[in-house]
Amino acid sequence: MSRLSQRTYPVARRLAEQLTAALALPAAQQPHWPDPVRARAVAGLLHHARPIVTRDETARLHDRLATVARGEAFLLQGGDCAETFADNTESHLRANLRVLQRMGEVLGRAAGRPVVTVARMAGQYAKPRSRAVDALGLPAYRGDSVNSAEPTPAARRPDPHRMLRAHANAAVAMDVVRGAGAGEVYVSHEMLLLDYERAVLSVDTSGPEPRLSSGLAHFLWIGERTRQLGGAHVAFAELLSNPIGLKIGPDVTPEQAVEYVRRLDPHGTPGRLTLVSRMGHTLVRELLPPIVEKVSASGHEVVWQCDPMHGNTRTSANGYKTRHFDHVLGELAGFFEVHRRLGTHPGGIHVEVAGEDVTECLGGAGGITETDLPARYRTACDPRLNAEQSVELAHTVAELLCARERP
Ligand code: PEP
Ligand code: MN
Repeated sequence: MSRLSQRTYPVARRLAEQLTAALALPAAQQPHWPDPVRARAVAGLLHHARPIVTRDETARLHDRLATVARGEAFLLQGGDCAETFADNTESHLRANLRVLQRMGEVLGRAAGRPVVTVARMAGQYAKPRSRAVDALGLPAYRGDSVNSAEPTPAARRPDPHRMLRAHANAAVAMDVVRGAGAGEVYVSHEMLLLDYERAVLSVDTSGPEPRLSSGLAHFLWIGERTRQLGGAHVAFAELLSNPIGLKIGPDVTPEQAVEYVRRLDPHGTPGRLTLVSRMGHTLVRELLPPIVEKVSASGHEVVWQCDPMHGNTRTSANGYKTRHFDHVLGELAGFFEVHRRLGTHPGGIHVEVAGEDVTECLGGAGGITETDLPARYRTACDPRLNAEQSVELAHTVAELLCARERP
């Protein structure tokens, strides 16, 4: 945090102390770097890395998300589950941006409102894993910023140098985003790997309290596996001025949801916090309403976003991690139903999509079956909707948005 330590004034010093305290808390899903000395050396280099995004852009996204929270705009977030260095090409990035743009056009027409587009891009290189060991008995792949997906023990050894490559790749991707002519697109990733996230912070005194602005992405979210209330990720996010997302799965109680909202949106700032529900299509209608009611009663204006992907993952008979398009749509329909009934705003969606013709999710108009999966199953982690399924999904969400408008 060189930008901080160079300054000695009290605000910066207090934030630096708070950061140290936050990062000393238990942190789930962190790699065990085999050579801690080398990891520290890399962290030192990262502190001199240049920002990927500007503070002005991040502030503008915050304003846009406030309009989403008030029901005046719709949030579309999407992209790869895991970006890879190998796929960090102009053609892959542009294809993903193009599918987001097509989805945004469909949604914008239906909603009659602006669509705020946030890509999972330019930094989505770290993955939480349910199991530390994969099916072959090797240490799990944790994203290109930690190790390699290649199935050998050497490739799976965490290598801190990869964090520098992640930063360099993110910078290149951001240049593509800026030059793609895809309209106003913000970038986001899961705030997971704390040795990476603690770099490129600057003091931001523009808000209700001094905070740290991350230059690594406009929007950062806390994942389902790292949202422990006593853990480092929540404490770190509290210190950031960037808009924050929080994934909430079926275990979250309404009381916990309110606790998250109090911690992460202490000043009641619309747009500050996005709650991303990922309950699964069978549970959303039952589990989401009491959470929405209790958070609404607390007076905080959050963005309600539906991730219809991560609660609907299963393994196909032929051994592929997949999702069925109907289950994805089922969770979205449930999410809209709940908000319609409670009179709250279904603010947006968070999806894993690829601009290419991949065969990773089942169903859709193309009727992808289990036997089709091997043909073009290319994801480094979770299955993504292909371009056709993504646009079809946007049309369905558009119908749900229009149905909402009708009396
Ligand atoms: C993800 O967004 O890729 C992810 C791992 O989601 P979750 O934390 O909701 O499981
Ligand atoms: Mn995923």
